[in-house]
Amino acid sequence: MQTQYEVIVVGGGITGAAIGYGLAKRGVKVCVMDSVPTHSRASRANMGLVWCQSKALGCPAYVRWGFESSRLYGALASDIMETAGIDIGYHASGGVIPCLGEAELAQRSTMIDKLRAETADGIYPAKTLSRSELQELLPNVEFGPEVSGGIWCSEDGIASPLLLMFGLRRSFVRRGGTLLTECRVREVRRDGGGYALTTSLGVFGCEKLVLAAGLGTRALGLQLGADIPVYPNRSQVLLLERIPDILPMPLLGIARTKGGTVMIGAAHENAGMDMTLRPEIMSQNAAWAMRVWPKLASLRVIRFWTGLRVWPKDAYPIYDRLPGHDNVYVFAMHSALTLAAALERHMPGFVCGEPLHPDAEPMKLSRFDNGGKGFAGFAACAPQSSSKAER
Ligand SMILES: Cc1cc2nc3c(=O)[nH]c(=O)nc-3n(C[C@H](O)[C@H](O)[C@H](O)COP(=O)(O)OP(=O)(O)OC[C@H]3O[C@@H](n4cnc5c(N)ncnc54)[C@H](O)[C@@H]3O)c2cc1C
Repeated sequence: MQTQYEVIVVGGGITGAAIGYGLAKRGVKVCVMDSVPTHSRASRANMGLVWCQSKALGCPAYVRWGFESSRLYGALASDIMETAGIDIGYHASGGVIPCLGEAELAQRSTMIDKLRAETADGIYPAKTLSRSELQELLPNVEFGPEVSGGIWCSEDGIASPLLLMFGLRRSFVRRGGTLLTECRVREVRRDGGGYALTTSLGVFGCEKLVLAAGLGTRALGLQLGADIPVYPNRSQVLLLERIPDILPMPLLGIARTKGGTVMIGAAHENAGMDMTLRPEIMSQNAAWAMRVWPKLASLRVIRFWTGLRVWPKDAYPIYDRLPGHDNVYVFAMHSALTLAAALERHMPGFVCGEPLHPDAEPMKLSRFDNGGKGFAGFAACAPQSSSKAER
């Protein structure tokens, strides 16, 4: 006899673990299945930025959704601490986009003005800082001569990605969820009123299925007759040796981790599932970082890695039921670390039959009915070092 659950979540990265945890808290009999990641490992490769500002011009719902998550983060961090005894290293520190030259500062400043104009109340928690204001905010950072100022946002912050993911997973288990690691879902099919999953650990059944498998989501969706437009988007991260606590908040592209090491990363590349490290991209990122903060040049490089972002075709998240399957739910997005608190709080309700949160409502698959394009360009301000992207 196959083991039966009310809900099976495929994918135990940040997305699946957050939604699984929220379901377990509601008393749902839920199992999260995760295979050992090889390519699909965004939750293990990321920079840990809770980053809301300067994103999604033209889509106020997404902007609100990001800020909603940021405002829920403190509660999620406390909850994980209490339930799992894990400090996810969350700091509601605010964050800064450093700008090189007056033109970049003006461009980013204009974007903030436009984002503010799109909010219902005209309030957008970011402001333009002159170089001297930036220096006052971060007195221990010796900025390079080209730095003209920055964009500061009070709702940005930082958390440890691995501690978040493992904290969510442990909390999930402590609230009664079943976590099957090293469990690859090979086949998904309808089975009576529910679904049967053939996995590396045997066959399991469920009433409801959640696809939160990152870049594995598309292949699973195809088995159920739906092409979920999610693609890889490559990035590279450079890890430098430890520094003292002189960077109390992340800069977009440069962040000090909980342990004191420094991460540099920003690039966006369309390279399919190719994880090859490209030294020219790495040096481009490093050169930009040294223009921002020249002293970084004296730090030793400890490690570097590539990671593949989970990138919906139009860059906005996908939150929906699968077409033709009322009991299959799909959650795919980049910035899942930023959005984790909103996912944990609001998405379990959706899986349990409640309506989507109003700010998540536009993120349904039906937006791709316009010839597969989805929403118009996801306008975001990436650091200058960023290579060509789908942005
Ligand atoms: C370099 C880099 C930097 C980033 N920086 C940030 C940042 O600073 N802030 C931020 O908010 N976001 C950041 N992101 C994005 C963020 O990491 C992702 O949005 C997030 O990790 C996606 O999580 P996920 O759980 O949806 O997918 P994943 O982390 O890919 O997890 C999916 C899981 O599903 C498993 N899986 C797949 N197929 C199957 C199957 N058939 N059976 C069983 N299991 C399966 C995979 O093995 C994997 O463990 C960054 C990403 C990268 C690559």
